[in-house]
Amino acid sequence: MSEEKNLGSILVVGGGISGLTTAIEAAEVGYDVYLVEKNPYLGGRVAQLNKYFPKLCPPACGLEINFQRIRKNPKVKYLTMAEVESISGQPGDYDVTVKVKARKVNENCTACNACIEACPVDRLNDFNFGMDSTKAVYLPHQMAFPMRYVIDEKACKGSSCAKCVEACKYDAIDLEMEADTVNFKVGSVVWATGWQPYEASQIDTLGYGKVPNVVTNMMMERLAAGNGPTGGQIQRPSDGKVPETIAFVQCAGSRDENHLAYCSYVCCMASLKQATYILEQNPEAKVYIYYIDLRTPGRYEKFLKTIEANENVVMIKGKVANITADPESGDPVVVAEDILGGGLVRQKVDMVVLATGMQPSTAEKKAPLDFKYDEHGLILEDPQAVGVYATGCAKNPVDVTSGVKDATGAALKAIQTMVRR
Ligand SMILES: Cc1cc2nc3c(=O)[nH]c(=O)nc-3n(C[C@H](O)[C@H](O)[C@H](O)COP(=O)(O)OP(=O)(O)OC[C@H]3O[C@@H](n4cnc5c(N)ncnc54)[C@H](O)[C@@H]3O)c2cc1C
Ligand code: SF4
Ligand code: SF4
Repeated sequence: MSEEKNLGSILVVGGGISGLTTAIEAAEVGYDVYLVEKNPYLGGRVAQLNKYFPKLCPPACGLEINFQRIRKNPKVKYLTMAEVESISGQPGDYDVTVKVKARKVNENCTACNACIEACPVDRLNDFNFGMDSTKAVYLPHQMAFPMRYVIDEKACKGSSCAKCVEACKYDAIDLEMEADTVNFKVGSVVWATGWQPYEASQIDTLGYGKVPNVVTNMMMERLAAGNGPTGGQIQRPSDGKVPETIAFVQCAGSRDENHLAYCSYVCCMASLKQATYILEQNPEAKVYIYYIDLRTPGRYEKFLKTIEANENVVMIKGKVANITADPESGDPVVVAEDILGGGLVRQKVDMVVLATGMQPSTAEKKAPLDFKYDEHGLILEDPQAVGVYATGCAKNPVDVTSGVKDATGAALKAIQTMVRR
């Protein structure tokens, strides 16, 4: 029988598609990996998408393949609701301290749902961007990995209530569970903390939070998703009407010196994909896409050509000046310059989708490491780096295919540090 060698451990921070890829690739060649994720589930933003461009397949399939690889591989130790507090040491020998929040639901949970029926408290569902609610005890989403419930500490009434504890036949709920600190050693670190949607209310002119039925592209992903707030039926939030006219506003915050100066890379493809969500449900709907330039790099050009060929999709080249509410109906009114057609366009629609960009999570919270950042908080690639590396949207806005390639490269870099120790 061959004896398994101890090749050493790698820390991967962020359990989105980039971090999952680095962790699994490194573990499958024999390294132990600690995967630290702040959400109660793995999968990151991809878990919130309805379909993947360009194939339009459900992201849950790709994620499930990765979760299977983790289930089968004891070398990946993942911690959810966890954040790194400190990292000290040198390449090949780092001491790591991780703080793990109290989930208040233990491994006994069978996802039977009885606690939800008993819990009297509602909270806004952040997974669906506040478009619906869950109970204080909840499953983060239908395909969550791990498939284990969690209690929102801020919403829960605690031991004075404890109705969920009574309802649980499996002794899975522990309202007294406390946060924990975990310490371990690793030889290299990969930072994969990804992105967050740019806060649309910061773009004064585009009406988000002021004009009814102006939503973001990530909200549209949830509205179209079968496990979303409307069961996959795209409806406008104010009155549930099925929209017949929809405007997409590209570069909402991106390529703008006052917000994100860079191109967020995926939002043109995301809007073209979302046009298919709308037309699939209502082939008579009219979709207007306002753009500065449409960016569909490489083979994505074919996807653009297919969508453009639909006569119900109208492309208008021009920057949107503002979005206001029609005084009579309250419907959004988009005002833009039509560069190719000439003149100002003023268009009343049922719903507007802002193609908001991707901002790195490190804009808000930096890594406890010696990374250099650009003015937006994106981690700068350092070709000389040894021991600590960044990957995925923490470094650059990317689609899943490019993210997975970069994350595989990051696994190799992390392994090289271990080999050269
Ligand atoms: C509207 C929209 C639609 C899209 N559709 C597609 C598509 O169809 N096809 C496609 O290829 N791409 C699509 N994308 C892009 C896709 O979402 C990204 O490529 C992907 O999310 C990148 O993965 P990531 O792991 O780098 O980042 P993320 O998905 O953001 O994962 C990062 C993970 O790190 C965790 N984290 C953050 N901070 C910490 C911390 N301090 N400690 C621990 N964990 C932390 C987060 O909770 C998260 O789980 C779309 C993007 C948008 C905006
Ligand atoms: S915590 Fe208990 S009641 Fe709630 S889903 Fe899990 S096993 Fe069921
Ligand atoms: S103790 Fe908290 S989670 Fe449990 S039922 Fe009461 S409010 Fe809900």
